[in-house]
Amino acid sequence: MKLNELNKIAEPFSSTEQMPVLFLGHGSPMNAIEENEFVKGFRDIGKTIARPNAILCVSAHWETKGTFVTAMEKPMTIHDFGGFPKALFDVQYPAPGSPALAKEAKSLITKTEVGLDDKWGLDHGAWSVIKHLYPNAEVPVIQMSLDYSQTPQYHYELAKEISSLRKKGVLIIGSGNMVHNLRMLAWDKLNAAEFAFDWAIEASEKMKKFILANDHKELINFKAQGKAFDLAIPTPEHYLPLLYVLALKEENEKVSLFNDKAVAGSLTMTSLKIDKA
Ligand code: ZN
Repeated sequence: MKLNELNKIAEPFSSTEQMPVLFLGHGSPMNAIEENEFVKGFRDIGKTIARPNAILCVSAHWETKGTFVTAMEKPMTIHDFGGFPKALFDVQYPAPGSPALAKEAKSLITKTEVGLDDKWGLDHGAWSVIKHLYPNAEVPVIQMSLDYSQTPQYHYELAKEISSLRKKGVLIIGSGNMVHNLRMLAWDKLNAAEFAFDWAIEASEKMKKFILANDHKELINFKAQGKAFDLAIPTPEHYLPLLYVLALKEENEKVSLFNDKAVAGSLTMTSLKIDKA
């Protein structure tokens, strides 16, 4: 056995070129099994990225007191929704876990004691989108939870602590939606792409302006941005994954937007990729 092969075994996350970071607007769970422009957007972005050693996903759908990472060998596919067709409940995404990556993430984070979780798995915030990037489920996936007791600033700083994973072939994905108000969803316009309420357009345009200007402070202070933001972010869990992703952006990197459209009035699918300029 050659020395470099030996190193690979001893160090599953060997040094690589810096991986991009993604924010994926996941929208309806039905995107997992439908064919539409957003699904195509996920597939296309996957093709632009070198195959990762593993994925670390911060999903809107795993909120905990304290921060946890999934650390099991075989995470189960969690169907954390109701009222959808059986075909959606039948979906399995059997990507392996990565206890090694879970431990690595835990060791990097100093802000808090990160718990190793053996009960969660992959929720639809993770699998409904990752399955389009890696349909063969060959890339190991772990999730990192959102601590609901913490401030936006805390989440932003926490994310920075795992930045070195990008140089170990780890693709970090935040999965949520920038504008996400289910209470105001225009259910009769679910299939009317690009329909958005005025406040949703206003919030979305403002968010994108701040993102492209690297004005992360304004985005962290989303609660002080007025009515349109209040309506766009009635609860923070779908927005916070965006802060994780932005925190990982380095000065010499650029942001590219894709799937930049609204659906059903109060939801935007806007997604972004951060990589070298
Ligand atoms: Zn969601």
